[in-house]
Amino acid sequence: MRIIADLHLHSRFSRSCSKDLTISNIAKACELKGINMVGTADALHPEWRKEIGELLELRDGAYYLKDGSSKTAFILSTEVACIYKRHDKVRRLHHVLYFPDLEAVDKTITALNERGRNLRSDGRPILGMDSEDLLKMLLEIDERILLVPAHAWTPWFAIFGSKSGFDSIEECFGDYSKYIYAIETGLSSDPVMNWRISALDNVFLISNSDAHSCNNLGREANVFEMEKPSYDEFRRILIEHDLSKFLETIEFFPEEGKYHADGCAGCKFWCEPEKSKKLAGRCPKCGKLLTIGVLSRVSDLADRDPNPTKPISAVPFRHVVPLKELIADSFGKRPQAKAVILEYERMVSLAGEFAILLDMAEKELLELTSPEIATGILRMRTGNVCVRPGYDGIYGEIHVYADEDRSKQVGLF
Ligand SMILES: [Zn+2]
Ligand SMILES: [Zn+2]
Repeated sequence: MRIIADLHLHSRFSRSCSKDLTISNIAKACELKGINMVGTADALHPEWRKEIGELLELRDGAYYLKDGSSKTAFILSTEVACIYKRHDKVRRLHHVLYFPDLEAVDKTITALNERGRNLRSDGRPILGMDSEDLLKMLLEIDERILLVPAHAWTPWFAIFGSKSGFDSIEECFGDYSKYIYAIETGLSSDPVMNWRISALDNVFLISNSDAHSCNNLGREANVFEMEKPSYDEFRRILIEHDLSKFLETIEFFPEEGKYHADGCAGCKFWCEPEKSKKLAGRCPKCGKLLTIGVLSRVSDLADRDPNPTKPISAVPFRHVVPLKELIADSFGKRPQAKAVILEYERMVSLAGEFAILLDMAEKELLELTSPEIATGILRMRTGNVCVRPGYDGIYGEIHVYADEDRSKQVGLF
């Protein structure tokens, strides 16, 4: 069966995350979106770990709600922050960890407690540990544990981040690089951008939502072919680089991410990499250093030209815009507007969000919703969108309608 998997999100115990992130709410949201397999997030946090143990049980390869109220499969996961010095520079990296079972989670908690790490203050714990040492420790605990560098290109907290990271997987993980089977592209980069770096041809580029609220679940995801949701099969696909079972990834338009272009949020100024080089990396309005975005950083490390052909070892992908944003765009309203939420809820109660965004034929879309929303979905599928890129922590904007389209559709609902 086709398994849509979102494997990086947070619980309500992570800093600046919504209180709605309970296990049962996550399971419910996954059903509405059409996500089959989801990370538990935050598995090393003592209180959340306790809830996981109380509410979920291991059944046939994945964890499920004991009360049987949802078909959503959970994989034990967490994000950790590693902040440490290497080669005289401070490194700040986020990694996503995956565990085969609760025993491996508990052994990891014990090992980190013994090293005096504080797991209680944040669902995404800060470990003052070198990434290579962390991976070594995890593999000694259980060789089935996986580590995937998170949102690999974001400036502040990532393996290739302009302010925080390294120039290669080898520089970061040394002898343990061979255990890095995948990196997460993050919202601000997509596979085509990553294909410019030939050194990444032998790792999978995975995509997850990094959701801080149920609403954002599945904004990026991975699509696998599996008999059933399964940790072991997920691990096998990564380790064996099994292209026949990793069907595709679902991606944001990378311009929509918060760190795509270079810019200065205070001055609402953004620019492309060439321009910021001409400006010597300084904001022309306030003179401060620009935050160098993902596009610049990828160009700096690239050994291939922009828009390279797809490497044979790469997984196909599709760009999507969250359905709520498409509805909002067709109404000319914000995604939080009442009318938008009502139409969204009506639509996803009839078909899962991913079925609507990815699968439904034009005729079915027209039966489900208005011609304008259906048109928006079709335009998204063909990449017929207008873009204002994100920069310096400000999300980009993607529009499927120009203002003149919208003025034609009064009194629809
Ligand atoms: Zn992170
Ligand atoms: Zn400025």
